[in-house]
Amino acid sequence: MPHAYDDQNVFAKILRGEIPNDTVLETEHTLAFNDIGPQAPVHVLVIPKGAYVSHDHFCAEAEDAELLDFARATARIVAEKGLSLAEGGAGYRVISNAGVHGVQEVPHYHLHILGGRRLGRMLEKT
Ligand code: AMP
Repeated sequence: MPHAYDDQNVFAKILRGEIPNDTVLETEHTLAFNDIGPQAPVHVLVIPKGAYVSHDHFCAEAEDAELLDFARATARIVAEKGLSLAEGGAGYRVISNAGVHGVQEVPHYHLHILGGRRLGRMLEKT
């Protein structure tokens, strides 16, 4: 089954300028903005401008330029937020949720960058 993209999702509306966002960084292929419901002192969402649903969709089908731009944008945000280990930062976590088991709310691919406090264990034990 091909990846089905719903262009009425909230991040597609942000990309079209239909609803506002608190932009952290914008590049040719990537937009990053603060999460509306932050779960840590730093909680930035990084999204490609292209119509991708999930991490695997983006990684499988994006052009090289989109992949490179997204990866470099993510590194820039980590550095600019003072999270990079290379610059004395205390670290961070990146998360991407996909689908039902990943508990993905917004079906436009995004990475969460979380930092600024100790984040606890990655997963609850169930
Ligand atoms: P996920 O469960 O990985 O799909 O996460 C979606 C994230 O998008 C959540 O952390 C929400 O708080 C965030 N979110 C939803 N709407 C907006 C918005 N308009 N601007 C910024 N963040 C949003």
